[in-house]
Amino acid sequence: MGTRSSLVGGTFYAANQVLGALSENAFAQLAPHLHKVAFKKGASLWSPSSPSGSIFFPLSGLISIVRMDTEGRGIEVGFAGRESAVGFSTDELTRGTVQVAGISLQVLKDRFWALASEHAELRTLAACCQDWMLVQSRVLAACNAVHDVQARLCRWMLQISDRTGAEIPSTQDEIAQLLGVRRTTLTLVAHKLQDDQAIRYRRGLIMVQDRAHLRTLTCDCYHDMAALPLPCERMEGLALHQHAAAELIEASGHNAGVGRHILGTKNTSS
Ligand SMILES: [Zn+2]
Repeated sequence: MGTRSSLVGGTFYAANQVLGALSENAFAQLAPHLHKVAFKKGASLWSPSSPSGSIFFPLSGLISIVRMDTEGRGIEVGFAGRESAVGFSTDELTRGTVQVAGISLQVLKDRFWALASEHAELRTLAACCQDWMLVQSRVLAACNAVHDVQARLCRWMLQISDRTGAEIPSTQDEIAQLLGVRRTTLTLVAHKLQDDQAIRYRRGLIMVQDRAHLRTLTCDCYHDMAALPLPCERMEGLALHQHAAAELIEASGHNAGVGRHILGTKNTSS
């Protein structure tokens, strides 16, 4: 119970932006069921043969969602850092792997959905995180199909460093797998970026040195995704819609007419 009470009393959970976007009341419902877990790089959170019973809210680090090919290579189809959460649906076709080590808060999936059945904010949180993942998957599918390796590598490094900082602990072999390209091709591109002093690469660690240069080399996929509202911002948008809808329902129930609320005129009757 020590962990539980510290979750309610502290605010470190807000490092995860969707948890931080919950009202105090909604978070208080969820907090007793959250458990803090430290994940090492490479840890498998779920796989087709070992589905997860949990939902993960990263406080730090990064989780990659990969689709495995027949030779066991995983191509990245999505990722989640502290801006989102993963594991809401029963997903049999991907693997969740810790790409950058970090801390997550974890809740049993059944427990979450039981709470969500009674708390609209938790349903909104899940919907916003799932929408975010769907958008990512669509963009990454197109990116992997049509954009060149340099643009994809720059996109990947920018997206990771946006979430975890300028140092990316990944080998070229790992990155080649995630992007679905040949290791030799990736090495050539990485050498060129290093020659341009955009990155520095040493013993399984990439250091992003010139983000501005990487931004000029990446594809629109990076810029388009960076411009999208984050899940926590989507939650606020949905909450406003729900609030407006509730006001409309209440207004119509009071025989006051819906139009006044839409037009913003003052209530002068009844
Ligand atoms: Zn792209």
